[in-house]
Amino acid sequence: MRILIADDDSATRFMLKDITAQWGYDVVEAADGREAYSVLSGQDSPQLALLDWMMPGMDGPEICSRVRQADGLPFIYMIILTIKSKKKDLAAALDAGADDFLSKPVDYGELRSRLAVGSRAVDYERRLAGKNRQLDEYANRMEELAEERARQLFHAERLSMLGALTAGIAHEMANPLGYISGNIGLLEMDWEVAMPCIRDAIARGGKNEKPLDILLQETPARFGQINNGIDRCVRFLDNLRRFSRKDHGLKSACAVNECIENALRLSGHRLKYDIIVNKDLGSGLPLLYASPLQLEQVFLNLVVNAADAMAASGGGTLRIVSRQAEDKIVVTVEDTGCGIPEDHADSIWEPFFTTKDMDKGTGLGLSISRGIVEDHKGKIRAENKADGGARFIVELPVSASE
Ligand code: ADP
Repeated sequence: MRILIADDDSATRFMLKDITAQWGYDVVEAADGREAYSVLSGQDSPQLALLDWMMPGMDGPEICSRVRQADGLPFIYMIILTIKSKKKDLAAALDAGADDFLSKPVDYGELRSRLAVGSRAVDYERRLAGKNRQLDEYANRMEELAEERARQLFHAERLSMLGALTAGIAHEMANPLGYISGNIGLLEMDWEVAMPCIRDAIARGGKNEKPLDILLQETPARFGQINNGIDRCVRFLDNLRRFSRKDHGLKSACAVNECIENALRLSGHRLKYDIIVNKDLGSGLPLLYASPLQLEQVFLNLVVNAADAMAASGGGTLRIVSRQAEDKIVVTVEDTGCGIPEDHADSIWEPFFTTKDMDKGTGLGLSISRGIVEDHKGKIRAENKADGGARFIVELPVSASE
């Protein structure tokens, strides 16, 4: 432990330095009050100080008083050396901030004991400061956690409102869409019946055969476009329903690799553009108690997103791996596409966030996928690969397999 010996009498200083060094203290000296205060208030200040009462520049009690008032100084145990013995004087030194006093000439046995008391006090103080720092850190962490929890609750609340809203929209849209698609179907059947009659009328060479001719040529294509539009609306409604969690999916014994294979099969038409599929599915994975349709949906979303991310560069490699890691099944879906810009890292999980064209993206895929994975007590996250492209990691607990 470092100790300051401040005395204007060099002989006293020398003796005190000699004896305290023998006891193992690391000694610093000061020959007057100002020098003593500058050592105590400087960098790497000693933890113990023996201060003569009477010194040029500044006396011992004043040094104590200044040290106690200085901001940011660590605790220093200060002992005043004095020939004074009146209780009034000694009380004044303690009031000024000294921790102890010793009468001159100094008795070494007493000095040693007093320094031991001081060392213990410094040690307690240091440990207390450490505990306080820890408490401050805990308090800050608790504050951060509370803020984070409040944010999550707010987010959950918003999502549940959005869920209720989308469920309402999906419900309201489902009926008119049903009439449209039903009536288009009937119209197509009527058209099949009417077509020969129109051809007949044209063949008989009526006056107005031109508009009939156009009708014959263009109507099938128009039916095609209308049916395409209806298909897209149906898919969108389907996504809205899944997002609003109306579709919980029946759980059963489920082989994750089968879900992956199905997802790859379903997304076959999106895996063109020179996309190489590199599959590495682990053998002997345990069955999970899960909804196969929902897990298939998760992998389908990830595969389609990967394909879309690579489409811009005309192709790439889709790698999909499944493994058991301790109590989890981990599936990673990687691509060599454009990667996820840093400022989108959080937003990609938000419902309706999309960077795709209007007719391609609804922004619901990842939000639905996260909902499904979390319903299965799992986790899903995304990261960018060091060599370009994105990696999505799905972790499903095996405990869900009972
Ligand atoms: P959507 O596919 O309809 O846009 P998602 O929720 O599935 O909705 O995805 C949201 C957004 O996340 C995408 O529009 C895209 O910007 C980003 N994203 C998802 N997967 C990838 C990927 N593999 N690489 C780069 N960006 C991706």
